[in-house]
Amino acid sequence: MRGRNSGEGTATRRPHVAVLGGGFAGMSAALWLAHGGARVTLVERAPWLGGKAGEWRAAGYRFDTGPSVLTLPDVVRDTFEGVGSECPIDFRPASPLCRYIYPDGRVWDVHRELEPTLEGLSPAEADGYRRALAKARSLYEAAAPVFVHGSAPGPLQLARYGLRHGLAASPGRSLPSLLASLGADGPLLGPFFQRFATYVGADPRRAPAVLHNVAWVELGLGVHHPAGGMYALVRALHAALVERGVELRMGEAVERLGVAGGAVREVVTERAALRCDAVVAAVDRDVVLGWLGRERTRRPPSLSGLVLLAGLRSRDERLAHHTIVFPERYGDEFDAIAAGAHPHDPTLYLNVTAHGEPGDAPAGGENRFVMANAPALPVADDAETRSARLAAGRAALVGGLARRGFAWDEDELVASRWLGPEDFAAFGDRGRLYGAAPHGLLGALRPGPRLRGVGGLVLAGGTVHPGGGVPLALLSGRAAARATGTALGLRVSGPSRG
Ligand SMILES: Cc1cc2nc3c(=O)[nH]c(=O)nc-3n(C[C@H](O)[C@H](O)[C@H](O)COP(=O)(O)OP(=O)(O)OC[C@H]3O[C@@H](n4cnc5c(N)ncnc54)[C@H](O)[C@@H]3O)c2cc1C
Repeated sequence: MRGRNSGEGTATRRPHVAVLGGGFAGMSAALWLAHGGARVTLVERAPWLGGKAGEWRAAGYRFDTGPSVLTLPDVVRDTFEGVGSECPIDFRPASPLCRYIYPDGRVWDVHRELEPTLEGLSPAEADGYRRALAKARSLYEAAAPVFVHGSAPGPLQLARYGLRHGLAASPGRSLPSLLASLGADGPLLGPFFQRFATYVGADPRRAPAVLHNVAWVELGLGVHHPAGGMYALVRALHAALVERGVELRMGEAVERLGVAGGAVREVVTERAALRCDAVVAAVDRDVVLGWLGRERTRRPPSLSGLVLLAGLRSRDERLAHHTIVFPERYGDEFDAIAAGAHPHDPTLYLNVTAHGEPGDAPAGGENRFVMANAPALPVADDAETRSARLAAGRAALVGGLARRGFAWDEDELVASRWLGPEDFAAFGDRGRLYGAAPHGLLGALRPGPRLRGVGGLVLAGGTVHPGGGVPLALLSGRAAARATGTALGLRVSGPSRG
């Protein structure tokens, strides 16, 4: 269905916007702009949409190759409903949210509900959990209107937030220090609560206390499974773009932006020079700086990842839909990563969508996605060092599975594929997943959507405000569409649940 702002039939010329990058941010921006009445061309280097959210099928198995934990499903619903469509995706709440397996063999299922979550915890652990959860909630509720749902905050909004909530956000304090003050730093709760900072690409030990708010998004607001898998969201957005007449130029890489008179005038791709009235760049911010011939950020990169997809003949009943297997010493992996190496004993995240989507694996089989944190590619590196480093990372991941009893016999494995920083470098500078590392209080603030001295260009995506992750990338696309629409005299609106 087309919205009232489609601009069809009007005599005036519709402004032409180029949206660069077809991940969640670019798809969202393109959809909102088309609904607002713009003529939209979306340019995507890959022959498909989705960006980091990919899909791989082999021998009867289906895998999501990128994100698997979906939070804030209302943001997805708003994306469709705001442009006049029904959301075509059903969401099922995850229960448990995640299973945690500790090195001593302890297994803990964490639910959105408190009672089953606290079962089996000592009284001290249960108290620590309650306190840490309440703190995460208050941090999130104070921060969300400004840092999640609002447009990039300026000095005034930051000052207002600082005055109202600054002390409670424990400026100058690290996440582990905050957790210690809440009694949530023991062997069970410490790694558990620290790990949420890795969702935004941080070494938890260097993350500011305020990033504890991320825990509330999952524990308090829940994890949801889109029916059909995460890639179903990409398919649905793709269909909505086609329906609204967005021109899709896929398999075409942007090479540079032509700037004249202080504003972007054209997008130069490997095949054409596109003239347009405005540009939304929904790719890694450092990639955009490269297109403009500017120097890239010097700040350390956020985490990358190493992923093994394994189609197995049988199912391991010890695994939930989402399972985390902690190593002997949780923090050590981040020392290796800071030194540019894959960790010897990484935390393992295992995801089996066949639990809720039986079609994702042949009967009785399992589509196992295994992920470990990994370093972004070092700036200077020769091919030999690079492949030795990657081989060590793969061996460590497989070794970790074996040590914890999750290895498989060779004849169990039907299909497999590795993805690592080299592959993710197609989406983010050096394979980093979340832009610059969000370390320290100011480091956690994501860059805004504008680049000084360049008009007609708005940035979107996981490396700028409000940050990474599926819902935030969608929100950044909407914010970029609004800013662009306003500059072009279009009304890009939509519901706001901020
Ligand atoms: C393995 C993995 C696991 C993850 N797990 C989760 C999770 O569980 N939950 C969660 O919420 N998030 C997760 N994330 C993060 C999430 O996927 C991202 O934050 C989000 O998808 C970012 O979307 P985006 O649109 O900002 O960027 P991208 O998806 O990176 O999109 C950018 C697009 O720009 C295109 N592009 C790049 N260069 C060019 C060029 N020169 N010309 C044209 N196009 C170009 C790319 O091909 C890409 O399609 C995960 C990511 C990965 C990789």
